[in-house]
Amino acid sequence: MNADDLPTLRDELEAHGLWANKGLGQHFLLDLNITRRIARAAGDIAGKPVIEVGPGPGGLTRALLEAGADPLIVIEKDERFLPLLEPLIEWSGGRLRIVQGDALDADETALAGGKRAAVISNLPYNVGTPLLVKWLKADAWRGDMTLMFQKEVAQRIVAKPGSDAYGRLAVLAQARCECRLEFTVPARAFTPPPKIASAIVRLTDRADPYPDLSALERVTAAAFGQRRKMLRAALRSLTPDAEPLLRAAGIEPTARAEEIDQAGFRRLTDAWRTKA
Ligand code: SAM
Repeated sequence: MNADDLPTLRDELEAHGLWANKGLGQHFLLDLNITRRIARAAGDIAGKPVIEVGPGPGGLTRALLEAGADPLIVIEKDERFLPLLEPLIEWSGGRLRIVQGDALDADETALAGGKRAAVISNLPYNVGTPLLVKWLKADAWRGDMTLMFQKEVAQRIVAKPGSDAYGRLAVLAQARCECRLEFTVPARAFTPPPKIASAIVRLTDRADPYPDLSALERVTAAAFGQRRKMLRAALRSLTPDAEPLLRAAGIEPTARAEEIDQAGFRRLTDAWRTKA
């Protein structure tokens, strides 16, 4: 099957009188070369379950079906796009399932039917980070993730200690996944163009995921909540006894959050969980 045989996305949008709704973070990729490149970045998905959030007019959806996703479960909040997506069910030989609703409320375990599903999406800007945190916490249903974010968010996910971009999101994402920035996509590639560029991040499960992401969230919220302060002061919102906790974790109480690596945050969170 070849998506080039389908009516173009631009023609489809025009035929249905559809326009982008900024409130829903709608910036579309209408060029199949780009959506195919995103599908390729996800590796071999032929015959594998995939979840895509926010298919919109279906550019990435077409590329994922072409690459053989089976089933491809798409979750779209904006019902205006259903008439553009529905013809893809027959075109894909029934591999596409369309769910209309808010992805933040989706029960992915049920949607994936007990199987592990890859997540591949060009995410809406306004809910990209909460969706990522939801998926990082996910249990057995979640496979590898290949996700498009605003470039700044992508840089915050892959950031290393000592950089300005390093913060909560890097520590949380890297606690569960190996995170790699694959490529950037300029703003002009989207219709309508957003103000800033976007980037694809690939997140694959790490061999030693940190088990208690909620505890890590609490610790990183306190540590980076006042990132310029020394940790002994910044962590006071977490515990009045920050100094012994830091010493137990082998961290200098005068250190700052941005200097602490993944292993350090794991030790600190372990120390806090034991004490709490
Ligand atoms: N995948 C399409 C593409 O690449 O052209 C559209 C991407 S657009 C950046 C984001 C899409 O997510 C829009 O179609 C929007 O309606 C949808 N969306 C926004 N918030 C959502 C939510 N909470 N749950 C599901 N879909 C959502």
